[in-house]
Amino acid sequence: MDITWEDGKKSTYTGEQLRWACPCAECRGEAGAPGRLDRVKELAAAELQIKDVQLIGQYALQIAFESGHATGLYTFSLLRHLND
Ligand SMILES: [Zn+2]
Repeated sequence: MDITWEDGKKSTYTGEQLRWACPCAECRGEAGAPGRLDRVKELAAAELQIKDVQLIGQYALQIAFESGHATGLYTFSLLRHLND
């Protein structure tokens, strides 16, 4: 996935990079409890393959993976920090 930022910077992301950065509660954990990504060391290929990307308002992208996981809202701030 590629993003061209307003300042002209271009960022390229792999599905694997984005999957491991998923900010959703299931992946990250909630209220001090570990999330799924804290417990696993590897993810299946379908987990790492981007299926669909949707713009949420003006602030985030919702990224759906082939595995069906689609609860992560990647804010542009998060995406920029991932690849700065
Ligand atoms: Zn997630």
